[in-house]
Amino acid sequence: MVEKRDYYEVLGVSKDASDGDLKKAFRSLARKYHPDKNPDDPESEKMFKEVQEAYAVLSNPDQRRQYDMFGHDSPSGSPFGPGGFEGVNINLDDLFSGGFESIFSGMFGGGRSSRARRGNDVLIRHSITLEQIFSEEEIEINAKLSANCDSCGGSGAESPDDVQKCSTCDGQGRIVQQARVGPFVQQVVSDCPDCGGRGKVIRNRCKDCKGSGSVEKEKTLRIKIPKGTEDGLRLRQRGMGQPIVNGQSGDLYIQLDTTPHPWFERDGPDLIMALPIGFPEMMLGTRIELPHVDGEMLTIDVPKGSKPSETLLIRGRGMPYRRGRGRGDVTVLLKLHVPSKIDKKMRNTLESMTEKFGLPTDAIEESVRREADNRRN
Ligand SMILES: [Zn+2]
Ligand SMILES: [Zn+2]
Repeated sequence: MVEKRDYYEVLGVSKDASDGDLKKAFRSLARKYHPDKNPDDPESEKMFKEVQEAYAVLSNPDQRRQYDMFGHDSPSGSPFGPGGFEGVNINLDDLFSGGFESIFSGMFGGGRSSRARRGNDVLIRHSITLEQIFSEEEIEINAKLSANCDSCGGSGAESPDDVQKCSTCDGQGRIVQQARVGPFVQQVVSDCPDCGGRGKVIRNRCKDCKGSGSVEKEKTLRIKIPKGTEDGLRLRQRGMGQPIVNGQSGDLYIQLDTTPHPWFERDGPDLIMALPIGFPEMMLGTRIELPHVDGEMLTIDVPKGSKPSETLLIRGRGMPYRRGRGRGDVTVLLKLHVPSKIDKKMRNTLESMTEKFGLPTDAIEESVRREADNRRN
């Protein structure tokens, strides 16, 4: 087992680094170690994965707080398995063109270059329950997505004749300007302002899509919920995002958010719940059965003589692991339930109990006396 390096150390930033510092460090390191730039270099690949993981954790405020508190021994564990990044693959184009933005919700500014003309990525958020995650259900999501306009085939023009070569750039999409800098002639290449880099202009726009080349269409997406899906997992479907004239369609991301469960909190593969029980049940022990997320009943055996804020561990009844076999655990936190109203019979019973249990009256009197002394001084 190799000792894991500190995430701040990996990114070469201090513990109080701002989001901007993290972003900057990540960007430069990710470029440096990117596998496309360092083919067949296992060391770089390792570094690249480390950098990705460190940034993913530190750029998420919740995970960063947890990491600051617990380090690598965070109770929910690392969100990344040994294989590196979950769900999304990052390629070098994404890193430079800005396609990466959508993965970490808009972290890089700047536009794409006209060289890699690409439609916008689309993000759809969908809520699922713990039960659905457990059963790895196949779900249908209805969404309005941009698709190529049928009337013009995505060209944006009323008829094929209406697409004409841009005269400003002679269909090149780019214009070259020359500037003299001292003894040098500098060439500046930029997008043609008249055709926006497309090299073509439209004389009469398509009526159905108003020249954009795409229309919104209702679509039904079918996805199978991946095993052990964690809150906010994003699934990518390449080329299903916004189409663009003369370019590559963007990608579609489906983000699976978990609906809060009435009594379970989720911590990675583990489930945690607070169980309010009465004093007699704590003293005498009890068995409680609850419908569980796995469709079976969950039996909680509270042993006699339990105390409030003690926890009971039920192994192997948590959520399935993202990778590999097995399930996390269920932790039950015992809480004392005190009724707000009691009847006469209950009062009598309780009063007779106080004699048996013997309140620490001496200690109480002592603390009252000390409190009074303090107030006097
Ligand atoms: Zn042009
Ligand atoms: Zn059209």
